[in-house]
This record gives sequence, C-alpha cells and structure tokens, in this order.
Amino acid sequence: MTVPAIAVINAGSSSLKFSLYALHGDELQLRGRGQVEGLGTSPRFVARDAVGATLAEQRWPAPITHDAALDHVTGFLRERDDGIALRGVGHRVVHGGLAYHAPTRLTPAVVDALQAFVPLAPLHQPHNLGPIRRLLHASPELPQVACFDTAFHRTNPELAQMFALPHALHEAGVRRYGFHGLSYEYVASVLPRLAPAAAAGRTLVLHLGNGASICALQRGRSVASTMGFTAVDGLMMGTRTGALDPGVVLYLMDERGLDARAVERLIYSESGLLGVSGVSSDMRTLLASAEPRAKLAVELFVYRIGREIGSLAAALGGLDAIVFTAGIGENSAPVRARVGEAAAWLGVQIDPAANEAGAGCISTASSRVSVWVVPTDEELMIARHTLNLLSADEGSTPRAAGVARGDTN
Ligand code: ADP
Repeated sequence: MTVPAIAVINAGSSSLKFSLYALHGDELQLRGRGQVEGLGTSPRFVARDAVGATLAEQRWPAPITHDAALDHVTGFLRERDDGIALRGVGHRVVHGGLAYHAPTRLTPAVVDALQAFVPLAPLHQPHNLGPIRRLLHASPELPQVACFDTAFHRTNPELAQMFALPHALHEAGVRRYGFHGLSYEYVASVLPRLAPAAAAGRTLVLHLGNGASICALQRGRSVASTMGFTAVDGLMMGTRTGALDPGVVLYLMDERGLDARAVERLIYSESGLLGVSGVSSDMRTLLASAEPRAKLAVELFVYRIGREIGSLAAALGGLDAIVFTAGIGENSAPVRARVGEAAAWLGVQIDPAANEAGAGCISTASSRVSVWVVPTDEELMIARHTLNLLSADEGSTPRAAGVARGDTN
C-alpha cells in the first residue's frame, strides 16, 4: 500500500532545499530532508532521513544550474520511492504582493503574475519560481502550491503598512509587506501549546538567521514587522544593511557613481555582518573572532535589534513575551543574552543557565516579560498549507493537524 506524501521545495540563490512528509491519518511526518548547496561554487548534495542519518551524498567538480539541482533532487526522490505516492509539492515563495495573501495553487498564469514581484525580491523570487516552472512543464499533472512569506503579515493594520509617500504609490502597492511569514506563522501555531500567555498576549518573535527580522504578534496575529517593501529593510543581517537612510542611496548614485545594480549588490550582498566586520557574514565566525571589527559587527547587530524591539513594543503598546528563533536565535546563547540586556528596560530578564541550556523558557521567574527559544519549521508550515489546500480542492478530508487553512491570513 502506498503512503500519500507532500514534498516541499525551498529554493534560494545558492541552494535548493527539499523535505518530504508522509501523511499518516492527519499527521504529517517528516520522512527526509536535504539540499544541494553551493550551486555557484562547489555544489554538494546531501539527503538525510528523519533522524539525521545520511541517505545519499554527492559532490560536483564545478558549478551546476538550479535546474540541474532540481533534477538531481527529483531523481533522488523517484529512485528511493519508498512506497510513497506524491500528492503535491509546496514551494516557499518570498513575495506574494497584494494579491496573494494565502497559499495558492500554481498554474502558468499564477507564475506569470508572481514574476511581477521579482524586482521586489531580486535575491529570492527568481529562484523560487524557477523550480515551479520546471515542474509545471515536466509534470503538469502534479499539483503545486505556493506559500508566501508575505502572507502572514496581511493582517497588519493599514497604518503599519504605509510609507509616508504620496497616496497613489501606496494604492499601487508600494507599502510595507514584511517577510519570514512562514516562520512566524509556524511559531504562532505552536505558542498556544508551549506558552499560552505569550500566545494570547503581546509578543515579539525575533527571527535571527542569515536574513533577520522581528514580528510583533498580538494574540498570534502579525500587527507589524521590521521588514518592509523588500527583505532588505529593518535589522542588520548577514550581508544586508537593514534600514538605511534613502539619502545614502542617492549619495552613492550621485556622488560615487554607483548604478542601481551596484547599489543592489552593496545593500543585499556586501553589507550587514560581512560588510561591517570585513571578516564573515557568519555569526559563529564573528563570535569566535578577536578582530575588533568582528566585535563591532556583533555589537551593531544587537544594538539594531534593541532599537527595533523598542519600536515594536511601542506599536504593541507593551510587551508580554519575546521568542527567539532561526539559526542565531535558536543557537547563540551569547547573542540572546546581549539582546536580553538591551531589552532589560522593558522588564526582560534572561536566566543565564536556562539560556545556556537553550530550549523552552529562558527568562527568570521574576522577569516581567517571558522569553522563549522556539525552533522554527518553515518547511512543515508549507507542507501543512499544501496538504490543506489540496484536500480542500479535492473535497477530501485530511487536514494537517493544528493549522486551519487561511486562519492566520
Ligand atoms: P537562513 O536565513 O539562511 O535560513 P539560518 O536560520 O540557518 O539562516 O541562520 C544562519 C545563521 O545562524 C548564521 O549566521 C550562523 O552563523 C548562525 N548560527 C548557527 N548556529 C549558530 C551557533 N551555534 N552560534 C551562533 N550562530 C549560529
């Protein structure tokens, strides 16, 4: 007997990640995950089972295309088979603009519409759409679903979405969208079980990875975030500037002769932790480095987080809880401790021993604001959405446990 399954694809500029979930009753269970990384440099493929044992590995001597990486992954999934009947594929798509505020079944027309958002997410959107097109062409009968990083923030009040630009531009879609929505939605979906008071209150979720942002949740719904029209706004990131006076861009163009592409490279790929430190975009490397500018980069990273925590706490009218997630948030006790100090004035007290242990609640018993570490799982969120949308389309029953379709959009 075959087991129905959902595959998830998360394609970025230099990597293609995949996960496979088998459906048992209404539970999605991870069967395996893997990635082809280093596409433009020295590509390597690894696939692991649900407990992390290596299933397959491969290296290539020279760069390969995103298409070749996708073909390798689909070939691997086909070969292993494992009694799986693939019901559909869910994709992470960074930008859904104004029109796409819920998971959407993909057709060539939808992909064409999503192409219009490439200039708003030049680092991500083209790579998100590539595998969708290739699969639509190769397997038109295979259902595919797009899940958007912007969708979770469509609940933001109009004011939180506005720039102080002429209104016609707002109407035309030049507004704050916010990103990392699948991560925030996942965290919001597990909070009621883990931390009921945080789920019911005013909570900041700090998604600190290579990309970094903060989302303000009021009773589990996004009301504001640090990212804006594009994913370069807000916090300082691995290689992105975060918020930058637009006058700097004008100066660089007028006085330094940079064209738009050169500015794009500078603000997306050469700035942030990498640009300030001159050492690395990787937080682990910076924390281990004795270079003064590596220390400065970490200080600025934390300072910017502290400033944005204050701003978002003001948007919420107070603060009940903080949640750390993503690579740095889940793994770096020193960064969490420093962020805690920066937010001490709001009533945040982190317990050093709990912070070192690094899971669940890490605040002291007397901390006015509770502090949590919650591992994110964007892939599982995509699999749940994909299953729910396909089940609704087919008029059948299986719904992924815990999240109703569209209930957070
Ligand atoms: P992405 O945004 O690419 O998904 P991740 O969420 O995987 O990124 O986060 C990557 C970041 O997490 C890197 O800066 C990495 O150094 C950092 N990181 C991972 N593990 C640790 C750790 N133990 N201590 C400090 N930083 C860590």
